[in-house]
Amino acid sequence: MTGSLTVVGLGPGAPELTTPAVSMALREATDLVGYDTYLARVPETETGQRRHSSGNRVETERARQALQLAAEGRSVALISSGDPGVFAMAAAVFEAIEKGDAAWRALDVRVQPGVTAMLAAAAHAGAPLGGDFCAISLSDNLKAWATIEQRLEAAARGDFVIALYNPASRARPEQLGRALELLRQRKAPETVVVYVRAAGTSEMKLSVTTLGATDQPDADMRTLVVVGSSATRIIPRDGAPPWVYTPRSEEARA
Ligand code: SAH
Repeated sequence: MTGSLTVVGLGPGAPELTTPAVSMALREATDLVGYDTYLARVPETETGQRRHSSGNRVETERARQALQLAAEGRSVALISSGDPGVFAMAAAVFEAIEKGDAAWRALDVRVQPGVTAMLAAAAHAGAPLGGDFCAISLSDNLKAWATIEQRLEAAARGDFVIALYNPASRARPEQLGRALELLRQRKAPETVVVYVRAAGTSEMKLSVTTLGATDQPDADMRTLVVVGSSATRIIPRDGAPPWVYTPRSEEARA
C-alpha cells in the first residue's frame, strides 16, 4: 500500500474559512499530524483516525514524522493554520525530503492551500493590499535580525504595502517596536498602520493608526500588522471602524 502526505492549511480560524478541499483531505486521512491547538480545530471523524499532536517549536521533527508515517503506507494530513506554504509546514516538509531518506521522493506529497492571515486581516480592514505588497516575518528564530532589517528597508524603499507576520511573541516582545522604528525613519508619519488580531475568528479586533502616532504597538502572536504604502488611505466612518484601502492606480514615482 502506498501512503500519502497532504499538507493542509486550516485558514485563519472560523470553520467556514477552511476550504472544502482541505476538509475533504482531513476526512480522508488515516493520520492527522500537527500542533495541539490546530488539531483541536479539526472535527473528530467516526473512522478512528489517529492523531499525533506535538508542541509548536518542533516543526522539523513533525515534518519527518509525517513523512515516516506516509512511507509506512498511512494517508497523512499535516496541519498548519492559514496557508501551509506561508511561514509554515509545507516548506519544512520539502526541507526534510531534500535532506532525508531518498525513498521519500517517491511519496505522493501534496499541498492544499488555505486562507492566509494576511488575506483575512486585509479583508476585515477593507482593501489595504489593493496595490503591490510584500510579506515579512519578524521572527528571527530561523534568520538573522539583520536580514529582517534589510528587507524592511528594501520594502520601504520600494514603497510596498508591508504585511508583518510574527510581530511579537512572549520571547520576543520588542521585535515589532524595532521594526516600526526603522520604518518610521524611512516613511511619512501619516503612513497607515493596521493591526488585526485573531482575523477570521469571532474574537477579531481591528485597530487603525499611523506610523507617526506615538501609541504603543498593539500586537501579540495572533496579530497581523499591515503598514501601508504612500498611497494607502483611510475612509473614516461615524460610529463604525474606518475602512483602509490602497487604490489600484498610483502616481508615477519620483
Ligand atoms: N501559516 C500561517 C502563518 C503562520 S506564522 C498563515 O498562513 O496564516 C504565525 C503568524 O501568523 C502569527 O504570529 C500572526 O502574525 C499571523 N496569524 C496567524 N493567524 C492569524 C489570525 N487569525 N489573525 C491575525 N494574524 C494571524
